[in-house]
Amino acid sequence: MVKVTVYCEDLNRTPIKELAEKTFGGAVVFAGLEKLGAKSDILIVDHALANRLKRDETQGFGQVCLFFNDRLYDVSRGDDLAEERSALMARGDWSGAKDLNEVLCDIDFLCKNAVNRSYPDFLQIESTDFCNSRCIMCDHYFSRNKNAQILSAETLDHLRDAIQLSRRINLNGIGEPFISRDIKSQIDFYVGYGNKIVANTNLSVLDDGLIERIAKHFEWLAISVDGARKETYESIRIGMSYENLLNNLERLREKAPHVKKIISMVIMRQNVCEMPEMIELAHRYGVDQVVFLSLNTNLIIGNLRDSLQYYPKVTKYYSVKALQRGAELGVNVVVANNPGRDCEVRWEDIQDELEEMRSLPMWKTPEQEQKMMKMAALVEDYFKTHDRLQDSAAPSKVRCAGVCDWLLKSCYTNLSGDISMCCRNLAYRAGNVDREGRFLDVWNAPLLREAREIFYAGYVPEPCLKCGMIESGELKYLSVDINSDFYEDTELKKEQKREARRLLGEDHDA
Ligand code: SF4
Repeated sequence: MVKVTVYCEDLNRTPIKELAEKTFGGAVVFAGLEKLGAKSDILIVDHALANRLKRDETQGFGQVCLFFNDRLYDVSRGDDLAEERSALMARGDWSGAKDLNEVLCDIDFLCKNAVNRSYPDFLQIESTDFCNSRCIMCDHYFSRNKNAQILSAETLDHLRDAIQLSRRINLNGIGEPFISRDIKSQIDFYVGYGNKIVANTNLSVLDDGLIERIAKHFEWLAISVDGARKETYESIRIGMSYENLLNNLERLREKAPHVKKIISMVIMRQNVCEMPEMIELAHRYGVDQVVFLSLNTNLIIGNLRDSLQYYPKVTKYYSVKALQRGAELGVNVVVANNPGRDCEVRWEDIQDELEEMRSLPMWKTPEQEQKMMKMAALVEDYFKTHDRLQDSAAPSKVRCAGVCDWLLKSCYTNLSGDISMCCRNLAYRAGNVDREGRFLDVWNAPLLREAREIFYAGYVPEPCLKCGMIESGELKYLSVDINSDFYEDTELKKEQKREARRLLGEDHDA
């Protein structure tokens, strides 16, 4: 008698059992992850749990099937399913094609394919690298929109098949998406193929056409607000108006009440004391969540001493206050290294750190800004002759299981059509859709194939060391044994740091 093992969510037990009995006959047994070692003729994996099979759990079964939307798919039939997906696309059945693509994605994962048949279901497509703000912790502080552009219709056309198969589009790259003159028509293009939209914005530009699209098509909108008080906000986000921000938050609350709104605040020496006030502000404007992000220090800006790693007691004190206020007001609060609401840090314990924080000047003088601009020019000249773009990856010593979501389900494309390894490793480029024409060719270019192979062999690729998405556990298809090796700099990084110090001078505060 045929024996069928089923790995599924409890709520899918009955439909899968009925389907298995009808399709295969024989005895059906349900198994948890730890029991999948006892092999049978057939294994049925529920789509909802497929991402948990990161090791070799599917090996040794006669046949493996996937349960998705009340159907069973044989994972060995990937080529046939890819053809079926093409036929659905030719008929303009985007919903059916997206479903089949999702099945193919599970198959790529379960079979540990380095060459994916599936397309990503989340696309981050840079709308522009222009920004109308010059925040003091961002490259725009010194780059001043030099060579900035907007996404062209030609590049978008080369991404058309990927957009037809994706479910969600993020509008961001390194600029402010809402200032692109083409943003509304681009949103219309994405939603025409059944995509939902997400974005980060400084919310300085918000006309009626944009509000209408946000209300209709956005899953969430994250708004960058790095100060709860006018002076702090306008000193950090140079060029922005606090009154304009509040006005637009109010319009958003009125016109798009059901869209999830998130305030994201980069916390640093200059604004850490305003964390609890940010929760009040969020509550006043109907914002659902506040996310406090750690500052990434910048060698050219020289803002190492703005990092809160130097003021741990102050950070903990205000994080606890923000978490408590969030619980009182019903605002969800996310803070890195969450100390918990009950953690006790007394006011008198933070006085020494507060004094140290305040002993340093808060903002750069015009002369210091001039010096920063000179350094930026030096570094830019250096990169003109020392191309830092990377097109291969090597394994590190850190062990893992599965693969990063960014090599399976998500893809970052800049406005020139370059596809990078992920939104963090922008300098690791697989290829260019404008030049190479077909999205799937770049999606399976040597860099990405190599990185998938390294992950599936059980090692974290070197460019992924110190990745915050690994640390936070938000990657669903990957688990990593984090140890001290994970925090090592790669040889490339060490060389870059040595070179930067040589260029900027050993005493540069970075
Ligand atoms: S592990 Fe992190 S750095 Fe590596 S590809 Fe994924 S998101 Fe990027």
